[in-house]
Amino acid sequence: MSCADRIVWLRRDLRLHDHPALAAGGPDARVVVVREPAANGFQRALVDAALDEVRAHRTVEVFDGDPREVIPGLNPAKVWVSADFTPSGLARDRAVSDALGPGVMEAAGSAYAVDPGILRTGQGGHYKVFTPFYRAWCDYGADDPVGGLPGEDGLPVTRAWRDWCGFLRDRLDGYAENRDIPAIDGTSRISGWLAVGALHPRSLLATLAVADAPEDDKEAFARELVFREFYADFLHHRPETAHSDVNPRFAGFRWNESGSEFDLWARGRTGFPIVDAGMRQLAATGWMHNRVRMLVASFLTKDLHLPWQAGAEHFRRHLVDFDVASNQHSWQWCAGTGTDASPYFRVFNPMAQGKKFDPDARYITRWVPELRGVPAGDIHAIRNLPSEYPVPIVDHAEERRDALARYEEVR
Ligand SMILES: Cc1cc2nc3c(=O)[nH]c(=O)nc-3n(C[C@H](O)[C@H](O)[C@H](O)COP(=O)(O)OP(=O)(O)OC[C@H]3O[C@@H](n4cnc5c(N)ncnc54)[C@H](O)[C@@H]3O)c2cc1C
Repeated sequence: MSCADRIVWLRRDLRLHDHPALAAGGPDARVVVVREPAANGFQRALVDAALDEVRAHRTVEVFDGDPREVIPGLNPAKVWVSADFTPSGLARDRAVSDALGPGVMEAAGSAYAVDPGILRTGQGGHYKVFTPFYRAWCDYGADDPVGGLPGEDGLPVTRAWRDWCGFLRDRLDGYAENRDIPAIDGTSRISGWLAVGALHPRSLLATLAVADAPEDDKEAFARELVFREFYADFLHHRPETAHSDVNPRFAGFRWNESGSEFDLWARGRTGFPIVDAGMRQLAATGWMHNRVRMLVASFLTKDLHLPWQAGAEHFRRHLVDFDVASNQHSWQWCAGTGTDASPYFRVFNPMAQGKKFDPDARYITRWVPELRGVPAGDIHAIRNLPSEYPVPIVDHAEERRDALARYEEVR
């Protein structure tokens, strides 16, 4: 087999380190990318940035078109890929593999430290609840990184890796507490890099293990990474849950039709300060703090009674870190329709949550300039707010009662 016949086809694995498919292809394989539509412009920019960094160190042939035609058209004897476990990725890869013929396309590694499908319950089923999955994941353990890390063995230190090292150095200490406070830059902000594969959880976990930080913070961070693996595992077993409720009881749930309220939610004009701050942060940056993602998702599904799928689609069109498994399942968790969901009757109160997690309204006023200068107490109580800020579009207490009544209908 000549080198030209051997291809490494990069997709959402845009890095040079800790890359089993690149390692399997060897240094002389052709490296190929087929441009596929990105979820949104924010993620497209990150794909481009990561690809540029790969291209600075390795020749990459970039093609436009449908990979089902492009890859077989290259007539390869062997194609190495990182396994893609998303429903659309699996369908694409099956079609390409069929067109190539048996044994040509081979997966080495994936975007996860433990591949979806590996962990099984004692009864041989898949995990439906996070905590036992987490225990099984810890018992199984992540492999060591493949090859060196950035900065070793001539491997370039990328923007993604610098971001990760910055977090380890400056923010890991205190992460367990700070991660819940949206006004603090207390999380890693690496979700976008993970989504495009510029980082791999194996290398993160290896460096996390030797980082100089309290064990609680390290453990809290690793646990979040395992959430990502749990949702990928769940979606692998139940691909239809990218669109339909995990909990079948919700099939007959009485959702409202999407109307003008959806638009006000999306534009950050609901009159609920923490919700509006989050939606404006998303629109401006393509990222939203996790705590606030939960609040805006609860608001859409339980105060506006709109289906989680509508919110998940809006997030797909904006999130730099959009990932079908994490997004759809986080939405289902918030809506109460999903894996070990927050019980449906737990309806977040946007005023109380704002007060608890953003007591001095620093986060809110960063994204809602109309409220700057207003005392935090008034912001959280939604009283004496300036006229240019919208009045609340619903009465939270009333909508909470309505949400619970609708839940009773399917219970
Ligand atoms: C409604 C909703 C939608 C979401 N959609 C996505 C999405 O499309 N893509 C995405 O990566 N995350 C999603 N999340 C999870 C979480 O909000 C983000 O992963 C996190 O905010 C990213 O910021 P960070 O990298 O600073 O996180 P950190 O706190 O630094 O966490 C480190 C990493 O752990 C993973 N992680 C953290 N929290 C979660 C979680 N709850 N579920 C799954 N993985 C997690 C991410 O890969 C993250 O980068 C969603 C959460 C909610 C409530």
